[in-house]
Amino acid sequence: MYMARIGIDLSSDTSTRPSSAMRRAMADAPVGDEQRGEDPTTSALEARVAALLGHEAAVFLPSGTMCNLIAFLVHCRPGDEVICAANAHVYGSEAAGAAALAGSQFRVIDTETGIFGVGDVEAVIRTPRARSPRSRAVVVEQTTNRGGGAIWPEETLIALAEMCRARGLALHMDGARLLNASAASGLAPARYAGRCDSAWIDLSKGLGCPVGAVLAGSAGFIEEAWVWKHRLGGAMRQSGVLAAAGLYALDHNVARLAEDHAKARRLAAMLAEAGVAVTPEDEFTNILILDLPPDGPSAATVAEDLLKDGIRFGVEGPFQMRAVTHLDVTSEAVERAGRALIAVLRG
Ligand SMILES: *Cc1c(COP(=O)(O)O)cnc(C)c1O
Repeated sequence: MYMARIGIDLSSDTSTRPSSAMRRAMADAPVGDEQRGEDPTTSALEARVAALLGHEAAVFLPSGTMCNLIAFLVHCRPGDEVICAANAHVYGSEAAGAAALAGSQFRVIDTETGIFGVGDVEAVIRTPRARSPRSRAVVVEQTTNRGGGAIWPEETLIALAEMCRARGLALHMDGARLLNASAASGLAPARYAGRCDSAWIDLSKGLGCPVGAVLAGSAGFIEEAWVWKHRLGGAMRQSGVLAAAGLYALDHNVARLAEDHAKARRLAAMLAEAGVAVTPEDEFTNILILDLPPDGPSAATVAEDLLKDGIRFGVEGPFQMRAVTHLDVTSEAVERAGRALIAVLRG
C-alpha cells in the first residue's frame, strides 16, 4: 500500500503509532462503563490531567476537535463571537464546527506566530449593543501550530486572563501541544493552562497515543461539557482501553519531548544553512515552518520528489513546507530527511 512506503514522516506528529509497551498497558487496563462513571482508568486519567492543568475537573474526549467544540458549546450562545488568531486551528482546520454546531462566529487577529496581546483583543471586542455580536471567548493555542510551534509566554497569558475576566470573556486554551511548551520552557503546564477557564491536551500528537484528548475546567464547566459529550455521541463505554494509553504516555512520553525539540533545532540549522528561511529562529518546540527560495522548485514539487524516497514533509503553501518532529523519527532519520530536502532544492 502507498502509505506503507513512507519511512520518515515529518508531516505531522499525528503519525506517531502506539508502541508495544503502550499497547500492553491498553490491553491490561481495568475497565467499566464510562457513562456511569465506572471506568477506573478513564477516571484516573481525568483526575491526573485536571491536576496537571491546574483545574478542578476534566473529561476524556475522542479528539482535540471535540474539546474545542464542546468548549464553545459551553461558553457561548449562538451568535456569540470567539476571538482567535487568523492562523488558529479552530478557525481553519475544524470544518467550521464552531459555526455549524455552536453557532459561534470568529473574529480573527492577524499574527505571524499565532500569539497576540491584550491590546489586540481589546481592539476587536465589540461594543455591547443590540445590533452587535457579543464578544464571548478568546482562544489561545499553546503551542501555536501554524505559527511554527511558538510558545505563549506566561506573562502574556496572565495579562490576557486578567483582561478577559474584567471584560466577561472566557479564555480557552487549545493545548494540543501544551506539554511541548512546558518541555521547552520548564514551566509546569498549570502555569499556562491554569490561567484559562478551559484547557485541553491532545494525547494523539507527540504523546504517541492512538486516540484521545482531555478537556479540563471548573467542576461546573465539566458538568456542562458532559451533557455535550453525550449529545455529540462522544460518550463511551469501556474507554479505559484508550485512557490507559494516555496514562502510559504521561508516564513515559512527556520528559522525552525535549528530544523532539532538539531534532527540530538540528533540522532548522541544516536547512537554514541551505538557504531555507526557517520559523522559528530560536525557541524550538517540535514544529518548523520552512519558506523555500522562491526561485527554486515549489513546495508541492519538492514534497513529491521526497515522497519517492519515502520521506514526507507537510506542504503549507506554494513555497512553504512544514516539518514536525516526534517520537517515531530518530535523530538520524531527521538528518537524512534534511539532507534529502537540501539535495532536492539543489536539483
Ligand atoms: C491537532 C490539533 C487540534 C485538533 O486535535 P485532534 O485531536 O486532531 O482533533 C486542535 N488544535 C491544534 C492546535 C492542533 O494541532
